[in-house]
Amino acid sequence: MTAQIINGKEIAEKKRVEIAEEVIRLKNLGVTPGLAVILVGNNHASRTYVRNKEKACHELGMNSILIEMQEEVSEEELLAKIAELNETPDIHGILVQLPLPKHIDEKKVIESISPSKDVDGFHPINIGRMMTGQNAFLPCTPYGIMVLLEETGISIPGKHVVVVGRSNIVGKPVGQLFLNQDATVTYCHSKTKDLPLHTNQADILVAAVGIPNFIKAEHVKDGAVIIDVGINRNEAGKLCGDVAFDEVAKKAGYITPVPKGVGPMTITMLMYNTVKSAAESLNRD
Ligand code: NDP
Repeated sequence: MTAQIINGKEIAEKKRVEIAEEVIRLKNLGVTPGLAVILVGNNHASRTYVRNKEKACHELGMNSILIEMQEEVSEEELLAKIAELNETPDIHGILVQLPLPKHIDEKKVIESISPSKDVDGFHPINIGRMMTGQNAFLPCTPYGIMVLLEETGISIPGKHVVVVGRSNIVGKPVGQLFLNQDATVTYCHSKTKDLPLHTNQADILVAAVGIPNFIKAEHVKDGAVIIDVGINRNEAGKLCGDVAFDEVAKKAGYITPVPKGVGPMTITMLMYNTVKSAAESLNRD
């Protein structure tokens, strides 16, 4: 068997066309969706991510503002800026690029963002709403994974989903989204004993570990759906996922590549959430 490739780039482009149409509808109603991105310090990777987010906003006809702060900025100053953006009507989404410098409490910062503008979906109120199946901003990478499966026509109810990784931004929420759609979910992590025993039961296997080529053919059941969240560099400096693509693709039914798999969906769902926030602001006014 050779797995069918889930083309995240193509699916993201399709979604972006739908988002652009919604932006036009909102503009006709007098609202241009606006995203504020706060970048603290000079982390090279963060700067690239932020640039890509701004570019996506402009391509979709949305507004974006970038607020750059020095590495030494105080927590107080950052919180004051967020408080100001919470009250700015033409800003519908606020995103603080992580990681933050060590002297700033990340949890406190995330909790200071108004839940109605938390387009990253990291605020505990949005996480609680997601867990209880209420209207919420869903975290972008997990949400993007669900859209990839939906667009590929892969049914979820009753499937056994195994998630390797339990971070707050990927592993935990993606498992929850699968559970919300009636999957049976197993979480694995660094303390899991006999990992292959669990992963071999997966109809859908999500790898969110951050170790190049960690998931091998021996971890995978014939015909399984493999979602590779990892963005890593191998020894040669080449971009690669958490899954040993060539050997796993021979066994799996479907697989996401890296790049052009999960990655393009993350920014797309950020745009989706910002537009959703703008639409919801209309109902509040
Ligand atoms: P974290 O480092 O926060 O979490 C990694 C998880 O993997 C932890 O839960 C850890 O377990 C688990 N883990 C580590 N080693 C093992 C092991 N030997 N066996 C089983 N589990 C293990 O990473 P993130 O969730 O933030 O990111 C994961 C990957 O996804 C990274 O490559 C990151 O770059 C990528 N990523 C990609 C995005 C995209 O847009 N495509 C977005 C976000 C992240 P424990 O909890 O016990 O420590």
